[in-house]
Amino acid sequence: MTVVAVLGRGVVPADTPILRADDLGAVRGDGVFETVHVRSGEPWLLDAHLDRMWRSAARLELPMPSRSDLVELAAQACAAWPPAGEGALRLVCTRGPESGGPPSVWVTLNEINERQLRGRHAGIAVRTLPLGYAVDARSAVPALLAGAKTLSYAVNMACLRWAAAEGADDVLWVSSDGYALEAPTSTLVWLTDGVLCTVPPASTGVLAGTTAAYLLAHAGELGWAAEERLVRPAELASAQGVWLTSSARGPAEIRALDGVALGPSAETPRVAKLLGFPT
Ligand code: PLP
Repeated sequence: MTVVAVLGRGVVPADTPILRADDLGAVRGDGVFETVHVRSGEPWLLDAHLDRMWRSAARLELPMPSRSDLVELAAQACAAWPPAGEGALRLVCTRGPESGGPPSVWVTLNEINERQLRGRHAGIAVRTLPLGYAVDARSAVPALLAGAKTLSYAVNMACLRWAAAEGADDVLWVSSDGYALEAPTSTLVWLTDGVLCTVPPASTGVLAGTTAAYLLAHAGELGWAAEERLVRPAELASAQGVWLTSSARGPAEIRALDGVALGPSAETPRVAKLLGFPT
């Protein structure tokens, strides 16, 4: 099931054409998006996602609609969704037609895909992949847009296809100087000696994950401290739990990294519960 809602039109049949052929989102990936988890009929952590969407748009100098328009569009889509079912709500804003015109703004709401559900329940096998930049290189060059959630995800999707071809479920990007960064659609989170950790977004250019931020902000409820740290992939072998987290997927425990078995972590059910995800 797919629900589509378009700014100025509301919910439309899912197969309705909504873009012009020269829309810069389609031909250049020039736009921003967010994926939000929908539970009990409501978008979860919507404010944090909208904050990040506006931060991303500012980096692209992208004109945005009013925030209340997007909140309303999200509510219209959720109203057309079965309240008991979870879903993935995607909010999209592009620069609009190349020939001029307003931004294109729409939302879609879909079921959580099989790959994400499988990872949440059974854990994932991950392969490291070099990203080719030193850990601090991208944050020093704002025009590289590291940390902005833009529509240009062809590289991210290619890396996931590479992982699948290698028999793995996901990729962990590694900097040229050997530090773990993030996955193509998820954030790295790990637990070591009672400290729940993630990679520092500001100095590395990884996307600041809303799920990881929520986990670290609430780590005290599980008796843990929280910290942003750099880590090398080999160091993750001694962690008490290693996860890739995202809004739609929730926490997916890494059970193998480059063929080395990790876990299972006794903490995974508690982490999922803290995030409100069914295990
Ligand atoms: N990193 C990247 C590159 C992503 O695309 C995403 C998800 O969209 C994440 C991390 C996880 O972010 P969030 O927890 O806000 O979904």
